[in-house]
Amino acid sequence: MELTELTAKSRFERQIAGGDNMTIRGSCLCGAVSYEITGSFKVMGNCHCSICRKSHGAAFATWGIIDPDQFRWTSGETFVQAYESSPGRQRGFCQKCGTPLVSLHFGEVGEVVVGTVDDDPGMRPSEHIFVASKAPWHEISDTLPQFDEWPPEIDSSLTLEVR
Ligand SMILES: [Zn+2]
Ligand SMILES: [Zn+2]
Repeated sequence: MELTELTAKSRFERQIAGGDNMTIRGSCLCGAVSYEITGSFKVMGNCHCSICRKSHGAAFATWGIIDPDQFRWTSGETFVQAYESSPGRQRGFCQKCGTPLVSLHFGEVGEVVVGTVDDDPGMRPSEHIFVASKAPWHEISDTLPQFDEWPPEIDSSLTLEVR
């Protein structure tokens, strides 16, 4: 095994090893809303769909996928306003400062906006999705896999939203 492979492998194993014990904390811009995630994200990816671009005001949004039972609000839940961007799917944001925070699937938090995480979440994005909807002024300059829409292995329960 080459050294680079070994390094990558041991880094991956460290992530997994620390994954169950870690706590990820995040908050909105004004600080009214904060949350805590027990354990690590399952996947982190950059979404280039038009809904993410509009609602984040950015070239793409970075999402961390979790199980709903990993997530809890630690303050300001009453300030979280939900906008239904597709049937059964809502985007939760702070109504005081407008920070996009989470995506809810039938009322349960299934994805978190990684830009709101306060510290290092211990993981890096692994893919670009909905690249067919990418902003024409944005060039993807890394070598991560790109998918026109959802990646083929995605859980079918997540494919409810037409992005
Ligand atoms: Zn806020
Ligand atoms: Zn998206």
